Amino acid sequence: MNKLIFEEVKKPLILNDISPRWAARLETGQQLPTVLSVTWLRWYFELKRASRCVVGEAHGYSSSYMYYCRECDKIGWKFMLYFTLRSYAKLDETKHIFVKHWNNDHI
Ligand SMILES: [Zn+2]
Repeated sequence: MNKLIFEEVKKPLILNDISPRWAARLETGQQLPTVLSVTWLRWYFELKRASRCVVGEAHGYSSSYMYYCRECDKIGWKFMLYFTLRSYAKLDETKHIFVKHWNNDHI
């Protein structure tokens, strides 16, 4: 197939392609776990760890992006913050920002 045509038909990735585990957890319209429940705590501690958070999953559960991509580092903290604040709107916004950034800079 002609490379140019291939590029044109290539669809941008969605969060489900980039970080499938977190995409399922943070699916739009789904309730977050009860604060301080076992699930909530597990997610909270994973979001705090650069290698285990939404952005870390995208990077193959590595925290190396902290040293070479400021934007990913920033987005990782946003997920953690808005999860803690239970801000569904801000979490959705952060997912969009992350997916856009990933499609622009990491593929
Ligand atoms: Zn990045």
